[in-house]
Amino acid sequence: MTLKEAQSIIDDLAREFNVSSPTVRFKRRRNGRAARRSDYDGSIPRINLAGWEVSVGAVLHEFAHHMHGAVGWEAHNIIFYWHLTEIIDYYFNGDFAKYPWEMEYKYGQKFFQQVLIPLWLEEVL
Ligand SMILES: [Zn+2]
Repeated sequence: MTLKEAQSIIDDLAREFNVSSPTVRFKRRRNGRAARRSDYDGSIPRINLAGWEVSVGAVLHEFAHHMHGAVGWEAHNIIFYWHLTEIIDYYFNGDFAKYPWEMEYKYGQKFFQQVLIPLWLEEVL
């Protein structure tokens, strides 16, 4: 994905959810190689993506941090995953299985299996 494509997804999400649009950049290590993980810097606010091969999943995940307004490992709580659910609902048109849940933290994978799938099957979502 190019930087332009990533920024255009973010701008579209920002419009849809009526929030400001964070700047996207590709994060590099000092040796010039792509960083290992994408992250969100809430103070700027900016989404740092880990290089060209970044997935849509990483873009949506980092935008969920922007909506949640919290950062750090402990920010991956149920509120974060509800924000992510709204984003996935919009981006994948309600097909929650299209999101790469296997790249999520264990808690996120549990949320998908134990909360999202049952609600989805009951057509609550
Ligand atoms: Zn995260």
